[in-house]
Amino acid sequence: MSDNPQSIILNVEDNDASRYAKSRILRRAGYVVEEAKTGEAALQRIAQEPPDLVLLDVKLPDLDGFEVCRRIKTDPTTASIIVVQMSAAFVEKSDRVRGLEGGADGYLTEPLESEELLATIKAFIRLRQTEERLQKANRVLERQAVELRRSNEELQQFAHVASHDLQEPLRMVTNYVQLLAKRHRGKFDAEADEFIGYAVEGVTRMQELIAALLEYSRVQMREQAFALIDCEEVLAHVLLLLRTKIEETKAVVTHDSLPSVLADATQLGRVFQNLLSNAFKFHGLQPPQVHLSAKLVGQEWVFAVKDAGIGIEPRFGERIFVIFQRLHTRSEFPGTGIGLALCRRIIERHGGRIWVESEPGQGSTFYFTLPVQ
Ligand code: ADP
Repeated sequence: MSDNPQSIILNVEDNDASRYAKSRILRRAGYVVEEAKTGEAALQRIAQEPPDLVLLDVKLPDLDGFEVCRRIKTDPTTASIIVVQMSAAFVEKSDRVRGLEGGADGYLTEPLESEELLATIKAFIRLRQTEERLQKANRVLERQAVELRRSNEELQQFAHVASHDLQEPLRMVTNYVQLLAKRHRGKFDAEADEFIGYAVEGVTRMQELIAALLEYSRVQMREQAFALIDCEEVLAHVLLLLRTKIEETKAVVTHDSLPSVLADATQLGRVFQNLLSNAFKFHGLQPPQVHLSAKLVGQEWVFAVKDAGIGIEPRFGERIFVIFQRLHTRSEFPGTGIGLALCRRIIERHGGRIWVESEPGQGSTFYFTLPVQ
């Protein structure tokens, strides 16, 4: 029996005896065999119901086998059908070449042992089945990719609209709570003052969260084209923004020479800013010490931001890049849990990767890559 008894073979041959002999061998092996005596009849039959394989004699009374093969292979609806051409042994070698170059998948010469015919057909049918399985799997993957892209875009849109629209009512609540605190503090009892304090704290935090979420959702939406930017300039600008924090914490920031890269300068600045802010925040007993470097590895720059702070348990190395994931309470260290998720999104938008290597108490090194322009 064949691998797949349902496989349909079209046997195209004008010589009755030869056609009959081949059909008989194939039917005995379990294939469904259809027949055609001319090229035109074969093409008509293929258009009606495409077979899995066409066994095609080169010499036909109307169109020759090369032409039939060419038509099968140039029509996208039939191109995947396997065509095995057959001719008598005395045929010119150039005909074999012509047949294969014209798109035939195989070429057999007669007389042929039935075992050889069957083994060849079986091998081709197997090939076609594998190809079909691959194509099917590919189609499923493509569909899933489209679906994933769509739901990703929807989610992004949702996060953007939600955080954007929440800003307005929140602004109103913030303003009035702050007004209440300013104008009426001390006019109620101590408990009321305490409650107002909590409310101010809550809305301020919510504003921070929403602003961060909005920034996160905007990473992909930015249309600013990438430009060649000097990372040392970006760093200098960020250090200026962070100067109060640097003074407060007595942080020491050093760096090797940094390259120019093709990037969105604002976004890359946010990556430096977030990584440095974290290094300043999670510094342990000593004042923060941070060192930035970059080295060329293959086709990418690998940046490193190394601190001497409290470190991270390796098992949390992935989790900290997920939005809102933090390893500490807000009373231990303030923060929104968005910084590293934002860094990852920005770096991935630039075609790079970001990760951390760290041990508790041993400091942390955050690495990220950017393609060489
Ligand atoms: P946030 O700083 O607002 O908490 P991030 O997304 O920037 O949010 O960081 C997530 C968590 O990763 C932090 O809460 C902290 O536990 C850990 N983390 C980040 N940077 C460092 C660092 N340099 N050293 C130690 N822990 C860090």
